[in-house]
Amino acid sequence: MTFNELGLSEKVLQAVEASGYKTPTPIQAQAIPHALAGRDVLGIAQTGTGKTAAFTLPMLSRLEQGRARARMPRTLILEPTRELAAQVEESFIRYGVNHKLNVALLIGGVSFADQETKITRGADILIATPGRLLDFSERGKLLLTGIEILVIDEADRMLDMGFIPDIERICKLVPFTRQTLFFSATMPPEITRLTETFLHNPVRIEVARAASTAITIVQGLVASATGPAKRETLRRLIRDAADFKNAIIFCNRKRDVAVLHKSLQKHGFNAGALHGDMDQRARMASLDAFKTGDVDLIVCSDVAARGLDIPDVSHVFNFDVPTHAEDYVHRIGRTGRAGKSGVAISIVTRADQKHILEIERLIARKIDWLSKETIAELDVEDAPEAPSSPSKGARSRRAPHARDENKRAESSDAPQRGERPAPTRSRRRAEHPHAALAPVEALTEAKTATQAKTATEAKAAPVRRRPAPRPDDDDAPVVGMGDHVPMFLRRPVKAKPTKVAG
Ligand code: AMP
Repeated sequence: MTFNELGLSEKVLQAVEASGYKTPTPIQAQAIPHALAGRDVLGIAQTGTGKTAAFTLPMLSRLEQGRARARMPRTLILEPTRELAAQVEESFIRYGVNHKLNVALLIGGVSFADQETKITRGADILIATPGRLLDFSERGKLLLTGIEILVIDEADRMLDMGFIPDIERICKLVPFTRQTLFFSATMPPEITRLTETFLHNPVRIEVARAASTAITIVQGLVASATGPAKRETLRRLIRDAADFKNAIIFCNRKRDVAVLHKSLQKHGFNAGALHGDMDQRARMASLDAFKTGDVDLIVCSDVAARGLDIPDVSHVFNFDVPTHAEDYVHRIGRTGRAGKSGVAISIVTRADQKHILEIERLIARKIDWLSKETIAELDVEDAPEAPSSPSKGARSRRAPHARDENKRAESSDAPQRGERPAPTRSRRRAEHPHAALAPVEALTEAKTATQAKTATEAKAAPVRRRPAPRPDDDDAPVVGMGDHVPMFLRRPVKAKPTKVAG
């Protein structure tokens, strides 16, 4: 199958050729002829399948007839994030080089004035995030009654981000007779309901990510203690990574993205960050720096990274194991694209075990442990160490107490260039919780006698109980009973006054 057989216009075909694409991807081959014929399309496809071109190319062909009017865009593409919207704009510019069409971008975080000028001039293609679009429409600066084609992209992500009510409102503002092209990686019930309400007799196209892509990703788990030790585990994994080109590092929380980003920079790593609290300009600058190779690490939250087309990523590190198994699939799908090989490593703490089980259930396979240490062995991390004896302390795997750990965070997280500096006593104390982890290259080595002895000694040591971590202490290691401390043991019990007879 070639692009010539799909019915696209000559101008579009020339642009596709200039992009270097030879054959359409399955979603393109199946969706483009229907989209050109004016049918509604329900595309179940994730990023990386070529779905952007599957709607961009037929839209450009169809837009060759007709003209835009002031404040009345002809087509509307809804994207869940600003970065995705900007990426789709890039696609329209690339594939639309031979057209004279006006493209406008309506996203939060950039000035209203420039956006308004473009809309007022008349946009053939409007790409928007739902919030900013409704803002414009409610202020009367935009009329959606001229929309001929509506695209809803990454619908399941819109659901995750709470945009479905906005999408429903927007669907009611556009003409009933428009064509709708709807894309979602998964079809949860809320999304199915949305398609039943707003699509008219759609062609359903479902494409899986090519199996050859999936098997090009080597996945692995590395056990680690929490806190500064976890950051050191990551630094070691980055330093030891074979065939490293660049990496995306995922955190579960926005604020952890910022903390980890700063820490990596402090340690001399060339890192950028991407999270929802950064202003739009900073987010775009970060993404561009990563795409062009100015930085080779980018620390992200899930929302910020979803759907981003960052070709050719060699490594994905889950600094935090995702709490939703689907996010794991999306995260690791950033590497091993288009037949290239990739590595995805997750740093696992004791509290993450249940999430790993859920992930393994979802992907229907076990993920190998890359460290000699397993989570079960981290159970003994609270064994007391002899503080006066650094050599003994260095062999023990005792995790520092959460409070001490916070106090020590600065010194233990201090930069090290190249090789680690000669350990001082305080550094040894901070490093040793994960010092027993094997470098990735040494995965197949058997345990040395010393390591086996260390493990036995540590296991034999008495386990000291510690109170459950404070709720705001995210990095505190969970040891002992942890969350399983019965409630009556956690709170002081007030004695009930009892009635005394007589
Ligand atoms: P998407 O799923 O739209 O994010 O696209 C994923 C990547 O595939 C992008 O880098 C596109 O430039 C690329 N791509 C899209 N269509 C094709 C094609 N037919 N042949 C080769 N690469 C493509």
